[in-house]
Amino acid sequence: MHHNLPFSLIESITKEHGTPVYIYSQEVIERQYQRLTQAFSSPKVRFFYACKALSNINILKVLRNAGCGLDTVSVNEVRLGLMAGFAPENIIYTPNSVSFDEIEEVLALGVHINIDNISILELFGAKYSNTYPVMIRLNPHIMAGGNYNISTGHIDSKFGISIHQTRHLQRVIKALNIKVQGLHMHTGSEIKDIQVFMNSMEVILELVEDFPDVTYIDLGSGFKVPYKPDEKATNVEELASKVLERLSAFEAKSGRSLEVWFEPGKYLVSEAGLFVAKVNIVKTTPATVFIGLNSGFNHLIRPMFYQAHHEIVNLSNPNGAERIYTIVGNLCETDTFAWDRMMTEVKEGDFIGFYNAGAYCFEMSMNYNARTKPAEILVDRDMKPHLIRKPQTFEDLTRDLVLMS
Ligand SMILES: *Cc1c(COP(=O)(O)O)cnc(C)c1O
Repeated sequence: MHHNLPFSLIESITKEHGTPVYIYSQEVIERQYQRLTQAFSSPKVRFFYACKALSNINILKVLRNAGCGLDTVSVNEVRLGLMAGFAPENIIYTPNSVSFDEIEEVLALGVHINIDNISILELFGAKYSNTYPVMIRLNPHIMAGGNYNISTGHIDSKFGISIHQTRHLQRVIKALNIKVQGLHMHTGSEIKDIQVFMNSMEVILELVEDFPDVTYIDLGSGFKVPYKPDEKATNVEELASKVLERLSAFEAKSGRSLEVWFEPGKYLVSEAGLFVAKVNIVKTTPATVFIGLNSGFNHLIRPMFYQAHHEIVNLSNPNGAERIYTIVGNLCETDTFAWDRMMTEVKEGDFIGFYNAGAYCFEMSMNYNARTKPAEILVDRDMKPHLIRKPQTFEDLTRDLVLMS
């Protein structure tokens, strides 16, 4: 939950680049990656960063340099990954509901392709047969995750090929001579219960027997990190020991050798991010005291979209008396970040910090109300801040407009 940025550094960043601003800590990203690799410490386990969480190319490079692979969901994320220097064999492409044209574009880039519906698999097999190995995304129908909107494995979910369709799946694979190299599942986000991963693994291992070309299984991710003071992260050490134990048992019994892949997004970058906004207005109404920030869901939509909780602190007055506030944005919209939060006393002009702003914050930002997107700053291991994305300007907003004659 906590970041490692001293207020003096935050203040100098805001002086140079203004607010709002997203600030990321390289040290925290690397720490999270090392937690995973140390927990698993097995050459059979590989991690691919799900870059839809935070896709700035400089962040991608931090993870590439640390030894991580990349998980992508669109052809442009694949291109960003290649631009960041990831080798194609270290990139997974896991799209949903994309056109066959996009799949072919990605195929030309040489990355691992994960197919998540039978009709695309048929088109793919008819054209490429066994010349391009694929991964298959399965839907195990396991309900998991912190919120319905971030659960992807349940019965109503659009993701993956149902495990009840494996007979049909195998018919298609056999008829078209498709080479299935990997089996994949991703059941949701913010999964604390390790049993969810073990259930997915069990379902996949059962299927592996019918897929002789499979050399890796991909258990997706959804590793949880704390967003509230009393929350705990997914216990990755316990997960690692259970997964490795189950893997050895499978290998001993089947005589096959398998790799296990994971695609953590939030786990790697969430806690590395601090979003800093400024207090424009303190307004007392008959109902509450509102703090009106120079931001809104155009910059941080998780509280509104997922009912997510972010810790919000007054960076400018950490030792003041605590009072109850309702924190809102400046959009013409009910953009409430939080009701009834205890915060140290707030004045207009104070800097307010949102914790856990690394994952799905900048990435979901938008230009609603013709407001611009803030700058992104990466603080390196020597605590030196680097501008890694300029704040947008009015010219950026109007650049693509075409004036009718
Ligand atoms: C979003 C996504 C992830 C990462 O999920 P987190 O909750 O951020 O860890 C992994 N795999 C796939 C296929 C995804 O779509």
